[in-house]
Amino acid sequence: NPNNERNFSGGPGALPASVLQQVQEAIVSVPEVGLSILGISHRSDWFAAVVQELETNIRTLLGLGDDYHVLFLQGGATQQFSMVPMTLLHGKTVPAEYLLTGYWSGKVLTEARKEGPIRTLWSGEADSYRRLPSDAELDFSPDAPYIHYVSNETVEGIQFHRVLGRDDVPRVCDMSSDFLSKPCEADRFSLIYAHAQKNIGPAGVTVVLVRDALLQDVRDDLPGFLDYRSHIKAHSNYNTPPVFAIYVVLLVTRWLLNDIGGLERMDAINRRKAQALYEFLDTSDGFYQGRAATADRSLMNVAFNLATPELERLFFTEAQQAGIFGLTGHRAIGGVRASLYNGLTEQAVAGLVDFMAEFRKRHG
Ligand code: PMP
Repeated sequence: NPNNERNFSGGPGALPASVLQQVQEAIVSVPEVGLSILGISHRSDWFAAVVQELETNIRTLLGLGDDYHVLFLQGGATQQFSMVPMTLLHGKTVPAEYLLTGYWSGKVLTEARKEGPIRTLWSGEADSYRRLPSDAELDFSPDAPYIHYVSNETVEGIQFHRVLGRDDVPRVCDMSSDFLSKPCEADRFSLIYAHAQKNIGPAGVTVVLVRDALLQDVRDDLPGFLDYRSHIKAHSNYNTPPVFAIYVVLLVTRWLLNDIGGLERMDAINRRKAQALYEFLDTSDGFYQGRAATADRSLMNVAFNLATPELERLFFTEAQQAGIFGLTGHRAIGGVRASLYNGLTEQAVAGLVDFMAEFRKRHG
């Protein structure tokens, strides 16, 4: 279906065509099992091998050491907004430090505040989340139990292009919208979480990488489902896991390793895609106005505006007629957003740029 290759959706996002092909086959029959992926037991040896291979692939892609656990959980990234502070903040009097850089870190903060003391280290609200802080604006405390930030703000289209914080304070990061789109220096974080439905699969599974040392001395009174240690002990098979979603993520990691050739190569492709679109915006004489400060532009989500909401509506209508999908901005801020996740090809971006040039000629 060629429409899938021109899907700029903010998430769930486009997946590689070769992966979709394998998924289609697996719906009827997984080759090595002879059963539909939708009817294979999570207690089968086959599924245990899937989880094992996926874990190995993620470790290989990120160069992750044995001191990390790799978990596949449910509840989306949203459950991690609570699970992180429930685990790390209970009984603490010194606040954890959170950055407020956009829509999603706002959601994170709302949940974290219910669990213990929080300090908002920096807020981009006054700038409508169009930019991210410089190091000079961030005064991390050496005593915080941990820091938390969102590496890529999916809605506003701003992304940190460096690792934040101090090496002596645990870093926790929501990498939902740029995980496995590039190398991320994973070993500098104590906990990383990322749902699958942007760069690596369908909704239903959230990857958590957690350093073993972070889970020493944590409370014992959490519900089993919300205790990372239950999932570690059960090898991500504590209750019925999303077998289908996990299998698709496995297929994407095989694609990253074998077809793309690793995360540096994926990053190079993703950079070319974003550069092509941003360069086009920058040379459109203001017909298309990029939303983010240049230095903080996201490689994943390119947010921009046209002169009026009416012109934007016309843009969406004509894009759809041209077979280009998923460009409407998030309901929180409107505007246009082109998401360029791993599964979206360079040709698709070239096609979008051509359409945008034509649209400007007609309506500029
Ligand atoms: N964090 C980020 C950065 C996101 O983009 C999203 C959703 N798009 C979420 C968290 C929430 O994820 P979920 O719907 O899986 O809970």
